Amino acid sequence: MRGTIIDVKRFTLHDGPGIRSTLFLKGCPLCCAWCQNPEGLEPRLRLWYLERQCLRCRGCESVCPVDALGVGGEGSFVVVNHARCIACGACVEACPTGALSFDGQELSAEDAADLLLRDSEFYLQSGGGITISGGDPLAQADFALEVLSRGRAAGLSTAIETCLFGDRSVLEAFLPLVDLFIVDLKLHDASLHEEYTQRPNAPILANYGWLAGKGVDMLTRIPLIPGVTATSGNIEALAGFIQGVNPGARVELMNFNPLAINKYVLMNRSTEFFDRMLPLPEDEVETLRCLLERKGLVVLRETRRDSAAGRLER
Ligand code: SF4
Ligand code: SF4
Repeated sequence: MRGTIIDVKRFTLHDGPGIRSTLFLKGCPLCCAWCQNPEGLEPRLRLWYLERQCLRCRGCESVCPVDALGVGGEGSFVVVNHARCIACGACVEACPTGALSFDGQELSAEDAADLLLRDSEFYLQSGGGITISGGDPLAQADFALEVLSRGRAAGLSTAIETCLFGDRSVLEAFLPLVDLFIVDLKLHDASLHEEYTQRPNAPILANYGWLAGKGVDMLTRIPLIPGVTATSGNIEALAGFIQGVNPGARVELMNFNPLAINKYVLMNRSTEFFDRMLPLPEDEVETLRCLLERKGLVVLRETRRDSAAGRLER
């Protein structure tokens, strides 16, 4: 079984108990306007060109089998036609400086597990283990399940972080292999959810209730996006829903991280959403935290979510 990943981050501290390695998969069914890992939205590998690293040597000019590179034209020295590119890697190999590279890699579940398990002695000592995030693990379920079962076989704690948008049967397959489900809930209002994530929230809320009913260990994360998710109306509605199906649930509020804008710039994606957005002020975070606690939920101290580093941050 092969899968596409963004990266493996070692020694993470925020994606489950103890010290862990987190595997970030490519491919997500949602498309949140504030996505912190936009290189994880698409399931396929995408070729990136960093002009500041380009020597203009033309080494990549003639190697492409499908004529997907324009070299030496006006503007950017190399232009990638992503619709044509078949991700064969010939130009990446030909480039002497790393100006051309992929936003992830394809590898077997066995190799992915080997990457995750290479520090396992530290993780075992700390009660930690492996976490699969993304993207979304449900989008590459067979691959994720094989990696998780290898983690289990090594005696490590296992966790996934998921938006819960997926078939119930797929989610059910994770039950025997996952110790902790980290579940992201964004918006309770159906039309706002569809507007900001491009997907309905009914299947997510239904899966959340079903999962809570299974008695599994769950941590619920709510991203605080000013004016979107971080409103008293949304937080109160989510709190009522969570307390109704998962009484006394643990909830983490994740403040907006504006640094992800750098990835959008490198990927030539619109930065419009980020241009007008700042993290929520501390007193407003506190107000929302009180709303959740008043409903009976346990709000954990806000932590910084580990995000994929990948090549975009190197
Ligand atoms: S990865 Fe392969 S197909 Fe894509 S641009 Fe490079 S040489 Fe062409
Ligand atoms: S091979 Fe690399 S350095 Fe040379 S022109 Fe192509 S992208 Fe630039």
